[in-house]
Amino acid sequence: MSLFKNLFSKPLSTQLTVTSNNGFHLRPVAQFASLSKSFSCQITATFKNRTVDTKGVNTLLSLSLERGDTFTLVAKGKKADEALEKLQLLFETLMQDDKEIKQIEKTAYSYEGSVLEGEIISEGIAIASTYTYRTQEVQHKSNIPFKDALHTSMDELDVLYTTQIDNENAGIYLAQKELLASLENESKTLPEFEQCIESESNKLLGTKLDSKRSDYQDILQRVKKHLGLEVKVTFPDTPFILLCNDLLPSEIDHLLQTKVEGVILKETSVNSHTAILLRAAGICSLITDTQSLVENETIILDTHAGVVVQDPSDNDRLKARRRSYEDKEQKALSSTKRFESAITQKGRHIKVFANVTDIKTAETAKEDGAEGIGLLRSEFLFKDVKPSLETQKEAYKEIFDMFDDITVRTLDVGGDKALPYIQIPAEENPFLGVRGVRLFHTHPELLEEQLHAIFLAAGNKPVKIMFPMVSSVEEFTKTKSFAQNVAKKYELDISNLLFGIMIEVPSVLFLLESFNEVVDFYSIGTNDLTQYLFAIERTHSLLKADELSPAVFSAIETILHKATKPVSICGELAGNKDAIPKLLNLGIETLSVAHKCIAQTKEEIRHV
Ligand code: PEP
Ligand code: MG
Repeated sequence: MSLFKNLFSKPLSTQLTVTSNNGFHLRPVAQFASLSKSFSCQITATFKNRTVDTKGVNTLLSLSLERGDTFTLVAKGKKADEALEKLQLLFETLMQDDKEIKQIEKTAYSYEGSVLEGEIISEGIAIASTYTYRTQEVQHKSNIPFKDALHTSMDELDVLYTTQIDNENAGIYLAQKELLASLENESKTLPEFEQCIESESNKLLGTKLDSKRSDYQDILQRVKKHLGLEVKVTFPDTPFILLCNDLLPSEIDHLLQTKVEGVILKETSVNSHTAILLRAAGICSLITDTQSLVENETIILDTHAGVVVQDPSDNDRLKARRRSYEDKEQKALSSTKRFESAITQKGRHIKVFANVTDIKTAETAKEDGAEGIGLLRSEFLFKDVKPSLETQKEAYKEIFDMFDDITVRTLDVGGDKALPYIQIPAEENPFLGVRGVRLFHTHPELLEEQLHAIFLAAGNKPVKIMFPMVSSVEEFTKTKSFAQNVAKKYELDISNLLFGIMIEVPSVLFLLESFNEVVDFYSIGTNDLTQYLFAIERTHSLLKADELSPAVFSAIETILHKATKPVSICGELAGNKDAIPKLLNLGIETLSVAHKCIAQTKEEIRHV
């Protein structure tokens, strides 16, 4: 009956208008398509007599919807009304939240050489020889079937997205994954796929989404790589300014390892994913017509003024060098300051620690001025295969050796975090199911091995061991006994180690007097605490709990008031500049933040 009803039900429709200046571009489209796919009903979007399926990123993108365009969203079938309502809500949120990329204001210039004006992507100044981008395709032996290469590429993008979720550019990986998923059934072989990429990206030619064509090329390159077809890009080993039509977003990482001083692109826009990543990497870059620029010519790239000086005079070079020196001085000043302690106006020293995931992020945190590690998210240390005891021990040892003060969290898997080698049966509500410390019941061998490795790596160091998602005192005492038994079994002395908990489940707030008797320290995980205080899943695409709500600060105040053991904060709130003054006023002494926020957090503290 309901099938019959759904088949013959009337389609429901609504009109949606693009209000973002950036148009309905790849990242919001990816989220829209992803939500559409969660409904089984048929959902289409119609614009200028073209109707497309909203479950495919490529089809939706091909409408090239720009600011002011109104399209009709139609849903037909099972739960059509719910689909329409949720998609409308998501669309409105996406339009509201879509940050407009502000045009960088150009400073005045007075160069004697001939000047080429352009659009600024990222500010800076460079004087170096030009080098034209070149690639070379190398075929390695490979028997990987095309479909497998497609799936490996999607998995790879998924891992990049989930591991960089704290990074504001992570959405680029989700968008590329959804783009690839939308093309999955369009082709069975690489040549077919190449054709498909070409025709899809050609649909964006000349539209406002033109610059997103490089995302199509990027996914093609990723699939090719998994088929053994590697595109090798060569760069000189002396400083250079890169001339290029366009770069692929995935190439920016590689570029960072070269002696690049600046980048001049011809066919991109300040909104492209390549531009976003160039800005994040701090590479001075400009968009201009590269045609008149020749290889191996010394030029000045001044992206404060938004110009290229083609035949700079001695005066021009002097001026540019002086400006470049000033830029470096400025950077050096903030860079040296990040190693200084963060002291408030009233003379309180607030410790700024780092949240890290592996050896690389721990090294970066050290370079960025972290005074310790407040949270080692151990679940990200080994993402693909289960590590051996020895591998784990070595990795922990390397990280522990970098800092005096270290807090390592035992595996926090479940909910939004998954590992391929840990199977958790499907649950109705994974966020309320087996996760965090509850894994000690379901996967005791795995946790025993992890603790064993941590104990061996810690040696005599007073490493802090933290259990995630603890909700009762008994849960903590049992887990600590489990750890003590592991030490006994392997005849290890762990009397130097401290044991504490993350405060992320609200029940802990009401049990603090009892917790004070057994734990050595607390760390407030505001990401999950906010989620559970408001009963809003932290990854929900439509709903968002306000981490700056008075409820969250009141919870923190309660904790600081009742706790008799040291308390730190390691959730995202710790690095939020609007929260820092309030947190300090409540009496917090230690903040643990993402490495990129360390210098800025210290600076905020100095002003309180
Ligand atoms: C938190 O929940 O605030 C936290 C720091 O842990 P994670 O984000 O890793 O769940
Ligand atoms: Mg958490």
